[in-house]
Amino acid sequence: MRKNIVAANWKMNLNREEGIKLVEDVISLLPSDNNVEVVFSPSFLYLYKVNKMCADYNFLQTASQNINDNESGAFTGEISAKMVSSLNVKYTILGHSERREYFNESNKQLKEKVDLSLKNNLKIIFCCGETLNQRDSGIHFDWIKQQLTESVFHLSEESFTKIVIAYEPIWAIGTGVTASSDEAEEIHQFIRKVISEKYNKNIAQNTSILYGGSCNLTNAKELFSKENIDGGLIGGASLNAESFVEIIKSF
Ligand code: PEP
Repeated sequence: MRKNIVAANWKMNLNREEGIKLVEDVISLLPSDNNVEVVFSPSFLYLYKVNKMCADYNFLQTASQNINDNESGAFTGEISAKMVSSLNVKYTILGHSERREYFNESNKQLKEKVDLSLKNNLKIIFCCGETLNQRDSGIHFDWIKQQLTESVFHLSEESFTKIVIAYEPIWAIGTGVTASSDEAEEIHQFIRKVISEKYNKNIAQNTSILYGGSCNLTNAKELFSKENIDGGLIGGASLNAESFVEIIKSF
């Protein structure tokens, strides 16, 4: 059975005090029968603290927003998979469109990051998605398949079970424009189909596929009602405890 997951991508927002307060508030607002996995992805600086705060709740997990594609060495300012893993963090996000765009992360580089993450026991929330131009010219299905093929489809069946996919259409991220639930479902269904073709039906059915892109408390219910949408990767709306908890409660 695949898991429902709602992950908060804080990006480069919130100071330590604000982050701690947000986690405290989310914990206090979450219903006691919550059965959705909730993932916080704060700055590296507070990852240790947030992870400690989540440790007593089995449905709360943390993720780093990135890792470096080298094992260790002279890479001033960078953070390795091994360092993140040493905090007992469960996930790392990889391939977010902001990393691809502003830091020129290629599918090949992401493959290295995927391998290093798994080697260090980090599960992965792997982001993929198309630009508006790609969608308008009809190449978005091929583009997404290529992102998966070049960065995660080299994995064994066993390793692939450690992957969560986040479909994030770039035109919907931080723009206030959300993919309609039908548009999102169409791509989620496609992603599940290509996973099934590459691996098998069982693995495809057990892979959680999250939607990201201006998901908020008003559209989450409709998006999460779709058969192939197993949760969300939430940016802006995860910075407010009430709206984030409403999204979690949308299942
Ligand atoms: C994101 O950055 O992963 C994201 C989905 O952002 P937003 O929710 O703000 O569109």
